[in-house]
Amino acid sequence: MIYLRSFAASPHEGHSIARWAPSWFGGDRYALRFLGARGVDGQPLRHLEPEEFRTKYYEYLAMIKKHVVGWLRQLEPDIDLTLCCWCTPERQKGYPTLYCHRILLGHIIEEYRSDVPVKYMDGAENPVWTDSKAPGALKLAGFSLPADYDYRSDWSIHYTFGGLEDNYAQR
Ligand SMILES: [Zn+2]
Repeated sequence: MIYLRSFAASPHEGHSIARWAPSWFGGDRYALRFLGARGVDGQPLRHLEPEEFRTKYYEYLAMIKKHVVGWLRQLEPDIDLTLCCWCTPERQKGYPTLYCHRILLGHIIEEYRSDVPVKYMDGAENPVWTDSKAPGALKLAGFSLPADYDYRSDWSIHYTFGGLEDNYAQR
């Protein structure tokens, strides 16, 4: 099960999927930082309408799809994983429902790893994107897996999270 949570609600466990995590977060601050909300230029996505944000975030994930696919492959339906970012309804201004990239990541997991259940929490259960599954959105952005793809057998992509950030900086 994947739990989509906020740092505030899960301060002691989980993996940060934010570009940076608060100092008080007791979970893993770095391993999944590459899933943070960036554009293809590596810069934070700021001041965008939700639809444009979604498009640009998916474009970013498509750019690093080798790493995203590698991560999706590693998910296990029976292993709990908590993904955390900053966003909560309380912190958010301007939208009555939650506008947060962890929701979009949940949609990606549901689309590409339908065997892994996703639980939207801490506001993510009430998303700003009403077409919640966004089928095909990532494919439009150039992200796809073969229809007959076997997650269990292909472990050929070994990726290092640590070097990824440096690669962005050099782009
Ligand atoms: Zn967020």
